[in-house]
Amino acid sequence: MSRGVPALSIVLAVLALAACDALRSAPPLQRDYPLKRLGERVYVIEGPNESPSPSNQGFTNNPGFVLTKRGVVIIDPGASVQVGEMLLAKIASVTSDPVIAVLNTHGDGNHWLANAAIKARFPRAVVYAHAHLKSTAVAAGERWLTLLLRETDGAVRGTRPVGPDITLEGGEVLKLGDRRFRVHQHEGGHSPGAIMIEVVEGRVLFASDYLVNERSAARDRVDLLGQMAAVETVLATAAEYFVPGHGPVGDRSAVLALQRDLSAAQREGKSSAD
Ligand SMILES: [Zn+2]
Ligand SMILES: [Zn+2]
Repeated sequence: MSRGVPALSIVLAVLALAACDALRSAPPLQRDYPLKRLGERVYVIEGPNESPSPSNQGFTNNPGFVLTKRGVVIIDPGASVQVGEMLLAKIASVTSDPVIAVLNTHGDGNHWLANAAIKARFPRAVVYAHAHLKSTAVAAGERWLTLLLRETDGAVRGTRPVGPDITLEGGEVLKLGDRRFRVHQHEGGHSPGAIMIEVVEGRVLFASDYLVNERSAARDRVDLLGQMAAVETVLATAAEYFVPGHGPVGDRSAVLALQRDLSAAQREGKSSAD
């Protein structure tokens, strides 16, 4: 029995070390991503238009932020604490103002799990999202974390789901500082409770995954009619810059090209069904 105690101690020590490693956050993002200025005091980082992988460390969306007189408003901070911390460093390169709000466009975790990093640095920042995200945040966040941890070989480790403080329904105009943020919502077109954010004075529309700026992607859209209705809403705004959830920022002509592709796909679908 006396010989068993040291062996047990070793096993326990190894398990304790493994537990510490599992709790430790993964390293920061290694690649540098340029900050792009759109309208007045509106910025975006175009993330890799890829699936989550070890090389992109799970960073695949387009986080944006807007400077207001009261502080910074973030739109879709990204997939992980590592992405959120990179975004905070980019914000700090243009302003020393605090983050006062985070707007989440929908429930896909690669867009909102970075809320944790923003709340850790700015606990008073208010997170807004559609009521659907609030009701599903923890379960959806855990599912997304499991998926992202697997696909990135643990590069998002240290992230935990932090859901919204205030819920939206669509149709609101939020006045944050001296800027207005109009909330557009569609049933259909992407996922339940997905919203678009129009930065009214900046003439920028954060259309998120309602707008996929990849023309070929239109071909396998399952909800073509929802997408087409969403594109009508996109075009009805006065925006000059259109930020998709993934891929490069476009102008009005890019949205019109997508609209033509969606119409063509619908016609093809109709004729193949005939
Ligand atoms: Zn999505
Ligand atoms: Zn997305």
